[in-house]
Order: sequence, then C-alpha cells, then structure tokens
Amino acid sequence: MRVVILGAGFGGLELATMLSSADESFDVVLIDKSDAFVFGYSKLDVMFGRTTLDAVRLPYAAFARPGVRLLRETVTAIDPEARRVTTEAGVHEADVLVVALGADYDYAATPGLTEFGNEFYSVAGAQRLAGVLPQFTSGRAVVGVCGAPYKCPPAPSEAALLLHDFLLSRGVRDDCEIAIVTSFDTPIPPSPETSQALLAAFEERGIAFLPGCRIRSLGAETVALEDGTELPFDLFLGVPKHRAPDVVLESGMAEDGYIPVSSQTLETRFPGVYAVGDVATAGVPKAGVFSEAAARVVAESLLATVGNGEPPAPFDGRASCYIEFGSGRVGRVDIDFLSGPTRTGSYHAPSAALVEEKRHFGSSRRAKWFGSD
Ligand SMILES: Cc1cc2nc3c(=O)[nH]c(=O)nc-3n(C[C@H](O)[C@H](O)[C@H](O)COP(=O)(O)OP(=O)(O)OC[C@H]3O[C@@H](n4cnc5c(N)ncnc54)[C@H](O)[C@@H]3O)c2cc1C
Repeated sequence: MRVVILGAGFGGLELATMLSSADESFDVVLIDKSDAFVFGYSKLDVMFGRTTLDAVRLPYAAFARPGVRLLRETVTAIDPEARRVTTEAGVHEADVLVVALGADYDYAATPGLTEFGNEFYSVAGAQRLAGVLPQFTSGRAVVGVCGAPYKCPPAPSEAALLLHDFLLSRGVRDDCEIAIVTSFDTPIPPSPETSQALLAAFEERGIAFLPGCRIRSLGAETVALEDGTELPFDLFLGVPKHRAPDVVLESGMAEDGYIPVSSQTLETRFPGVYAVGDVATAGVPKAGVFSEAAARVVAESLLATVGNGEPPAPFDGRASCYIEFGSGRVGRVDIDFLSGPTRTGSYHAPSAALVEEKRHFGSSRRAKWFGSD
C-alpha cells in the first residue's frame, strides 16, 4: 500500500513511524518543506533564553525508518479525488493520502501585528523574541490572542507566567506590568479547575487576565479591540490568528477554514484520504498530543486493512497537556472531548513528578521518531 503523508509534524511522524514498524506491506512517502522538527513548547524555551534553537531542532536527516522515504519538498497542489499530490519536485500518487500539514498563521488578519508587535508561535518569532525580551525593562507587556481556535490553549498563560519569572530574574518585575488579552472567558474553558489554578497563579504574580476581548488590530502603542476599546502596550507578545495552509484551502478539501473529518476515523469525504491534527476539524483542541493520537487511529486502521484485522476503536479525543506554571513548576490537564457525553478537562496540580513526566514526554518522542534521547 502506497501511503503518502503530507507534513512531518506530530501527526505525520507518528503515523510514518507506526507504519514503518509494522511490516513490509507499506511503501510510505513522508513529505515536509522544513529540514527539522521543533516541539511547540520548545518555542517558549527559546524565547525566554532557556535554550537555543540549535539545541531543540530535530533534523529530519536523523529520521531513518525502513519503508519510509522522507522527502524535503513543498506541497504545491493536492487533488483529493485522484489522491495525487504535486510538489515543486514532482508528482506523488497515493493509494492512501494523509494530510497532516498543521495550521499556518494569518499575520495579515491582525493589521499592525507584524509592524508593532511580536509573535511567539513560529520558530522565527520565538527566536526573534529571544533578542527583544532582554531589552524590555519597564512598561506594559500584553500577551494577546489574535484569534481562536489556536494551538495549545494553555500557551498564552504559560508565556505570561514565564515572562513574570524572566522579568523577576532580571530585577525589573516591579517596573513592568503583564496582561493577558483573550476572547475566552477563562484561561482553559473546558477545565474550570485548571482555569481556577491559573487565575490564582496570575493573581499571586500580579498578572492581569482580561477575558472576552477580541483583538482587531495593533497600533504603535495600543491594541484596538472589536468593541472599540484601546489597550496600551509597550511590548506585545501575540498568538497570531491561525488558518489551514493555502495549499489545503486551494484543494477544495476545507470547509470553514479546516478539513472536516469523521471524529471517529479521521476520514475525509474523499475515499482513501484522511486528515489528522491541526489541519482537521475532528472536534478536539489543536495540540500535538491530539495530532499524534489521531495519527495512531489512522495507522491502526491501515494496519487492520492490510492484515484483514478488526478496525480500531474510534478516536476518543483524550490527551494530556502539560502546563508551565513558572518557577520550574509543571501541571497537567487531561482533556477528554469525545469519549463521553460532555467535554471534560481534569486538573493535576504542579509537582516534581509532572516535571519529570513532561521531560519524558519529549525524550520518548525524540527516541521514537529520531532515535535520540
Ligand atoms: C508555543 C507553543 C507551545 C505548544 N505546546 C504544546 C504542548 O505542550 N503540547 C502539545 O501537544 N502541543 C503543543 N503545541 C501545539 C503543537 O505544536 C501543534 O498542535 C502540533 O505541532 C500540531 O501537529 P500537526 O502534526 O497537526 O502539525 P505540525 O506539527 O504543525 O506539522 C505540520 C508540518 O507540515 C509542514 N508543512 C506545512 N505546509 C507544507 C507544505 N505546503 N509543504 C510541505 N510541508 C508543509 C510543516 O513544515 C510542518 O512540519 C504548542 C504550540 C506552540 C506554538
């Protein structure tokens, strides 16, 4: 079975790894335009100078899996009916096509963001901020969410808490204000307990949480909200509005911005074509752990097909996200969006065990996908 996987992020790497380990029934082509994978959370470490970009880049050259060819090519067109993909290097035909191209950023959707603000969601943006943040010694920092849905819902809260630590360690915290501006009513809407814990952490540190605010644009010194309010800032750390990559929008696969899929099987409406992760609307948040879990369901389904086995259990929309609370503390929220009648998110308070668990989360993926620790 020729499986063509578009995108070597959380979803694509997990799927290719599972099919490779299985048997020789699969001829897998994994395509990505980048030369390295970077964990989303590593961007926070890079921006606050806790590590360097070189230390967290995982070059795709280290991904060596039998039965998988990882090609560095940019996908320029997808024909889901013919299961044919065009890149700048040629054409790839698939028996099974899996779109795992993630979400892109729509910087232009927030006028002024690139001129007057910063963003910490791209690798380049996080690296740029590593140079900007040491120069911020007084004034008002705003962590602003420019649109939802966005990847990793806890990340803006983490950025504010880590900024507090950063400013404290430089002896300038008393000269600075920190505010989080978001359209959500609480930091993590599906988990009231997690939201309470984060709100308590903000209060302890004097971080203002401004809910229900829709950002329209940025000027040189103020954020303009949809309701006409203007909020002053000296430093803007933004979560840009997200959207599916252009090549996906142009393929006719997307509806309302992303690719609709069966929440249970991750199949699209095109036979033999699946979509996993941030590029799809599967009824779960946009986060690497959900992309990975969705990819596992697709892998198990393809394995069952070639092995004449039973189809896998449906995608259950369950995954755990670690949350940096600052001062080296890590908490966790266990999200369950699909297995029960309601969406739930149970909270686990920061502990030494969770610090170790998060470390293991990263090292186990590095070992599984790249053979390194
Ligand atoms: C600051 C921050 C912190 C985060 N923290 C966490 C966390 O703690 N836990 C967690 O689970 N998630 C976290 N995330 C979210 C996580 O990074 C994403 O949700 C996850 O990477 C999505 O996986 P994916 O496989 O769907 O897409 P991606 O990992 O985005 O992979 C998509 C791939 O497609 C490639 N691509 C795109 N367009 C093309 C094209 N035209 N041609 C070829 N290749 C293309 C890209 O290069 C990319 O490698 C965080 C994100 C951020 C920004």
